[in-house]
Amino acid sequence: MAKSAKYVYLFGNKKADGHGGMKPLLGGKGANLAEMSRIGLPVPPGFTITTEVCTYYYENKKTYPKVLDAQAREGVAAIEKIMGTKFGDTKAMPLLVSVRSGARDSMPGMMDTILNLGLNDKTVLALVAATKNERFAWDCYRRFVQMYGDVVMGVQKGKNEDHEPFEVVIHGFKHEKYHSDIEDSKLTAADQQELLLRFKALIKERTGTEFPQDPWKQLWGAAGAVFGSWMNDRAIVYRRKYGIPTEWGTAVSVQAMVYGNTGDNSGSGVAFTRNPANGTKEFYGEFLINAQGEDVVAGVRTPEPVAQLDKQMPAAYKELDNIRKTLETHFKDVQDFEFTIQDGKVFMLQTRNGKRTAMAALKFSMDMVDEKLIDWKTAIKRNPADQLEQLLAPIFDVKAEKAARVIAKGLPAGPGAASGKFYLNADRADAAAKEWWMDDKGQFVLNKHGDKLKQPVLLVRNETTPEDLRGMIASEGILTAKGGVSSHAALVARQMGKVCVCGAGALQIDYATKTLTADGVTYKEGDFLSINGTLGNVYAGQLPTAESEIIQVLVQKSLDGKKSDTYTKFATLMNWCSKVTKLQVRTNADTPEQAEEAVAFGATGIGLTRTEHMFFEGNRIDAMREMILADSVADRKAALAKLLPYQKGDFVGIFKALKGLPATIRFLDPPLHEFLPHEDAAQQDLAKKMGVPVEKIKQRVKELHEFNPMLGFRGCRLGIVHSEISEMQARAVFEAAAEVQKAGIKVKPEVMIPLVGFKRELDLQVAVVHAAAKAVMAEQKVKLNYMVGTMIEIPRGALTADEIAQTAEFFSFGTNDLTQTCLGMSRDDSGSFLPSYAELEIIKTNPFASIDQSGVGQLMKIAVEKGNQSRPGMKMGICGEHGGDPSSVRFCHKLGLNYVSCSPRRVPVARLAAAQAALEDEVGAKPKGAKKASKAKR
Ligand code: PEP
Ligand code: MG
Repeated sequence: MAKSAKYVYLFGNKKADGHGGMKPLLGGKGANLAEMSRIGLPVPPGFTITTEVCTYYYENKKTYPKVLDAQAREGVAAIEKIMGTKFGDTKAMPLLVSVRSGARDSMPGMMDTILNLGLNDKTVLALVAATKNERFAWDCYRRFVQMYGDVVMGVQKGKNEDHEPFEVVIHGFKHEKYHSDIEDSKLTAADQQELLLRFKALIKERTGTEFPQDPWKQLWGAAGAVFGSWMNDRAIVYRRKYGIPTEWGTAVSVQAMVYGNTGDNSGSGVAFTRNPANGTKEFYGEFLINAQGEDVVAGVRTPEPVAQLDKQMPAAYKELDNIRKTLETHFKDVQDFEFTIQDGKVFMLQTRNGKRTAMAALKFSMDMVDEKLIDWKTAIKRNPADQLEQLLAPIFDVKAEKAARVIAKGLPAGPGAASGKFYLNADRADAAAKEWWMDDKGQFVLNKHGDKLKQPVLLVRNETTPEDLRGMIASEGILTAKGGVSSHAALVARQMGKVCVCGAGALQIDYATKTLTADGVTYKEGDFLSINGTLGNVYAGQLPTAESEIIQVLVQKSLDGKKSDTYTKFATLMNWCSKVTKLQVRTNADTPEQAEEAVAFGATGIGLTRTEHMFFEGNRIDAMREMILADSVADRKAALAKLLPYQKGDFVGIFKALKGLPATIRFLDPPLHEFLPHEDAAQQDLAKKMGVPVEKIKQRVKELHEFNPMLGFRGCRLGIVHSEISEMQARAVFEAAAEVQKAGIKVKPEVMIPLVGFKRELDLQVAVVHAAAKAVMAEQKVKLNYMVGTMIEIPRGALTADEIAQTAEFFSFGTNDLTQTCLGMSRDDSGSFLPSYAELEIIKTNPFASIDQSGVGQLMKIAVEKGNQSRPGMKMGICGEHGGDPSSVRFCHKLGLNYVSCSPRRVPVARLAAAQAALEDEVGAKPKGAKKASKAKR
């Protein structure tokens, strides 16, 4: 049973039972309706049924608490009192309500809404009589039956249907009577009545039941549909993508209807208090005259920019502009709100923090600090860490874009540049994105590291609906022919950080022939198109992309930072992060270039150099193979001697690039067979090169074969059995360190031994390292400061961390291996079943992307505690892929680690996440000096 017996919270008439802080109970929508009502904004009265009812509903075979009916009736009575109308009134103006869902976090387009509830064959006549507006009344009823039939009674598009059944009826009727697709607003009252008859017949035919006439039956049907939609496929997909727990449930808001479709002095709109695409401080949004709210977001009619309202309804525009300011001053964040104008009077239907691109988030946060709306610490929190990578996203090569053929123009709805093979259907786009990318000659397309790439895909639709979500996730970018900047496509794309162009009206899409015609040319599915979501341009063909301004400034050094507003703001944010962060951010880098890039992004050193990657370059692989094929220690040493200069050279480069920052260098880790060729031709080649019989190579490959190489002869086991390998690596580290130090550059080598599970393993390897260091220092007559530590990446290492810490001077958690060994799931093979695990909610997030805090996290916690027992205050960090994942970074902060290490381009993400984690500790502490910080650093 739920704890509280109060399930219904009223709002309206500048009062409310709830408030904005009650999102868990009232949902985001319900809580903010209450808050807007409290601060005196024009909110139509209503009530919210709490999320506890949703939980009850699912725990009690889809039934409601007994007291709910009485509380809902009181709620309706309260609305009736304020509105002066009665629910179900057949004589005078009837009270009609909207029924909407609202989870704690907004889930745009994911849940279903019903408008004009309370209409039936009798109340519609009362509405006609009261409003003297026949067209309006019948339009409302027709819309209601359509929505109710779809959402509550389930009359929806079947698998083999291309269009919604109600839309098919409308289309058929329009062509029958008008021989064209006239706008809905041109349909007469008689037309609406005819459509109603056809809709009711459709409902009866598809469901076997009549459309319900009793308003209370309608209300409970609608509430049940909202609760039911919490478990529909698209809500589940959305929750999985954004990590929203199923337990939260949704609330239901029931609110008196106001009408944007009474005529040309009415309308509905969706607006943002600032531009959510690029962050500009302007009243941004769109509206439709003579329309209900759903028309604006549905993307069927292309709305007008909200600025036009100033000319068409100046008084309403002025009021909305004032509301826009009130909202920002009160909520202290950019708001995304819905409004309706009924006969010139403005009503607020919803407000919430506006979804925004990373670019907009950055600008909002900086501007609001300057405007003294928020302080700089709040500004840090306002930038979603998992979106920050968008700022580093590529843009089109300027020259290529200028030369490209613009085939259509649309609204710039999601910034960035995307090129891909276009598909007109979400499932086909999803499937195509899983295919390898082949060029015209049938060759695999490779990235610069030689890895095969999957095909880039663009999803192109007339308009998207939530059913298209999977296809949208799979696509690089989304292009629609209809709809505006707040259409479903735009909202979802922005949130996912996808490039998006909306409402490119010149595109003629033919779903049947799977073609798209624009500017006189017909393109077929699978052809390349390119879109610029910052400008709204659509181009034919594939365009090369260029790096973002931040990359141009920091990495390519081809742009002066002072000339880039984006870079300046980014740098300010990063500076603020440095002021509060406790957790340092290092990088995983195997080359001087990677190290330099990461340092430019603010990395404070290298947390992991995987030395094995260095042996794949050029001639080194030959020496490496010679070493592996050697029959004796002497032969192996001879081969290793050839590798030494290469390895030393690598380390010299890295030390120089780091300019005194620490470098954790990990000794050889993968099983040796990874270095040998497995295909016949390559084996023949190698045999010839080395002057050995090919059989010898085949034999060695066979000997090195392992059933579970990940649990086999790898990690420190290699250096223990063949200590000469570690000896060579240690010598290379210290000879390089001596050389660089002599050249006047500080060096801080940290030698790291992988896959340690026993203290004795580490002891043996540490002895080799110290011996090499001693020898090199004596030969070179230098004193080197270095550390020797270990990775903690198998459970035994974590569980015996107190013993291991007696030898290890530092720990670095290898969370990739720690995850695979703790979960007993191969990091390379789990792709075959993890998607099913996610679907079945066995796991909430991929444990190889985000630390499994309750499992792997416990091992880490034990290791931190035990390590500190033996070596108080010892340096600890993490270098698995999780180091760039915001929620894992937060977890590492809580564990008290000293640093996380991640790939260079994720360094800013990790820095932001680390600063935000530090700020979470400060909750309640008073932030200070916003102005000082912003002036000082910019
Ligand atoms: C790890 O296991 O987390 C790690 C960083 O090492 P690797 O990925 O090289 O096994
Ligand atoms: Mg590892």
